[in-house]
Amino acid sequence: MANTQSRPATDTVVGRLAPTPSAGIHVGNIFSCLVAWLAARAAGGRVLLRIEDVDKPRCKQEFIDGILRDLDTLGLTWDNADIMYQSMRSGAYDAAFEKLQGLGVLYPCFCSRADLHVASAPHVGEHYVYAGTCRELSADEIAQRMQRRSPAYRLRVPDDVVRIADEIQGAYSQNLAGECGDYVLRRSDGIYSYQLAVVVDDLEQGVNQVVRGLDLLECAPQQSYLRGLISPDAKEIEYAHIPMIVDSNGRRLAKRDRDMSLPAILEHFKTVEAFIGYLAYTTGLQPVNEPTSAEDLAKSFSYDLLKRKTRIVWRLPDSQ
Ligand code: GLU
Repeated sequence: MANTQSRPATDTVVGRLAPTPSAGIHVGNIFSCLVAWLAARAAGGRVLLRIEDVDKPRCKQEFIDGILRDLDTLGLTWDNADIMYQSMRSGAYDAAFEKLQGLGVLYPCFCSRADLHVASAPHVGEHYVYAGTCRELSADEIAQRMQRRSPAYRLRVPDDVVRIADEIQGAYSQNLAGECGDYVLRRSDGIYSYQLAVVVDDLEQGVNQVVRGLDLLECAPQQSYLRGLISPDAKEIEYAHIPMIVDSNGRRLAKRDRDMSLPAILEHFKTVEAFIGYLAYTTGLQPVNEPTSAEDLAKSFSYDLLKRKTRIVWRLPDSQ
């Protein structure tokens, strides 16, 4: 199976901002939101906001409030009056899950590691290929195990290569069975996985452009495959995976790095425009270090400005 076609030129672009409120956002998340917004606006498209709180116990209202405040401060507007909250979408996820069950592509998994990480977007290094331990359990074995614990549910993936034409990173392909393995769509506690929620929500919102961090590139073939199962007629998404912002030691920024939060950064830069200008300059979105706004950057935005970059070091300037 090959999914290489992206959005036809005639479709209105529908992009999205999809932050997870499990912590405050830092400059890496800000950069992702900025580029996702620029890509949609530069194409004359719409931007939809979705709060990815599918793992409700790990998310907090104060982080949601912080995200809304930061997006507003940055001028990253959105077009859906009703923000989508994943925590309120269990009915839609149930329906997709039942559809997949009807297709016979799910199976219960009783392995103790099955629940790890699946409700949040994976980070580099957290990935492992499932060995398939529960793939061929008989009906009797399943019934016996069900008495002891409730299972997670995995998607049975084929030994097929799925290809993505990424706008920034170029061609990317993944053999689902060999490089990914059967992945979890619902945890044993009933919480749906990041993968299922994102695919169902992108379909529901009519999203046709996904711009996000490079650490999620490996999810794109998995999501593309799942999208085809849930909605065989849906058009393929335009993907663009942007370089990761790292600190001066080359480490991915963590949400606990409080000095990377927008209020802390703005103490340094004094104005939002000075910060956006500096971020744009250091990431290649504009050629000079001068104050600007997201709206102005949209006029000159092109994926080419980030072409094939994978990492960008973030450091505050000594003085502004
Ligand atoms: N919610 C994810 C994050 O904040 C992004 C998921 C996506 O863009 O598909 O990392």
